[in-house]
Amino acid sequence: MVFEALLLLLPVAAFSGWLIGRRSRSVKTERGRADIPADYLKGMNYLLNEQPDKAIDTFIQMLDVDSNTVETHLALGGLFRRRGEVDRAIRIHQNLIARPTLKKDERIQALFELGQDYMRAGLLDRAETLLSELAESDQRHHSALKLLLDIYQQEKEWQNAIQVAKKYELRMGKDLGVSIAQFYCELAEQVRAQGEPLRALKLLKKALNEERSCVRASLLEADIEISAGDAKSALRAAQRVEQQDADFIPEALPLIKRCYQVLGRRDEFRRYLQRLLDNHSSIAVVLELAELIHEAEGEEAAEKFVTDFLKHTPSVFGIERLIDLNLERVKDEVKDKLLVLKNVTSDVLKNKPMYQCHHCGFNGRTLHWQCPGCKCWNTVKPVQGIEGK
Ligand SMILES: [Zn+2]
Repeated sequence: MVFEALLLLLPVAAFSGWLIGRRSRSVKTERGRADIPADYLKGMNYLLNEQPDKAIDTFIQMLDVDSNTVETHLALGGLFRRRGEVDRAIRIHQNLIARPTLKKDERIQALFELGQDYMRAGLLDRAETLLSELAESDQRHHSALKLLLDIYQQEKEWQNAIQVAKKYELRMGKDLGVSIAQFYCELAEQVRAQGEPLRALKLLKKALNEERSCVRASLLEADIEISAGDAKSALRAAQRVEQQDADFIPEALPLIKRCYQVLGRRDEFRRYLQRLLDNHSSIAVVLELAELIHEAEGEEAAEKFVTDFLKHTPSVFGIERLIDLNLERVKDEVKDKLLVLKNVTSDVLKNKPMYQCHHCGFNGRTLHWQCPGCKCWNTVKPVQGIEGK
């Protein structure tokens, strides 16, 4: 509706622009009567014949770009872009920029709009060049930096993303440490994939310098260290997760377990798990402990341990494990009934999201460090509660 209204206003704007120009230029015309310009009639004719492209071209040619019409051009260009008609938006903004009479602020605004047009059109290289120049030439232009940051994230140019984010932090006094740490993690994954684990570890250190509670950096560091055969360093890194964000303990546990196995410290692992459980009511820890109890003391002890936990903290994963433990002991009819129950719990868990973004609510079964929904970094977490792990 807004667009249609603006389209209708365009001939009015063109006409009044022409009138203003005419009044200022001509000394005297017949009072109260002005000749309607031929271009205006031509434009109206195109509009009436449902040829909006030609109509717009005509009206734009008529519109003298001066302080009275710049706003109209900018509003129209912005509307075209929002409607997805990017070619028209680009034409309007390029037409504006070409005018030598444009004031500095208006030129900057038009360049910024053109940068957004290029982004929308997928012309990221052009948008990048234009917005970089804008961000450099006009120190106040924080929006250009923000769009540049979007471009570098889309193009996975993490080094550039880090530079721009730091510039933005400086200018705006805003802490972007959470995002910058993630950019370092992205870089670390890239260089690790290129066979440079030591360089990756250095980048992870930078990530942690930016954001001490960056769980991803710790998990990645642990993974690189254990792959390199350094289980002690890996364990140190993975155990850091508890302090960084206890909700991620289920993500760190498989690595921690592997480290203790490599180090051959089984008893220590059990004590560690017990201490974790004393501080965090985590079903993942309970299941891990239940496994150790099962091996050392048999299924009855493990079953009692899980049951005691479930009495005060209900968990579908806990119930499933309890069924498994019982299945080992029972026979025939009871076993059949338990298998039916197990199928039910498995079905419940199979379709439940394991991770959720606490910014936009996006959920899924894979851990994304950048939310696919809202594009925020580090907002997706393991689901807690009765269906959580
Ligand atoms: Zn989200």
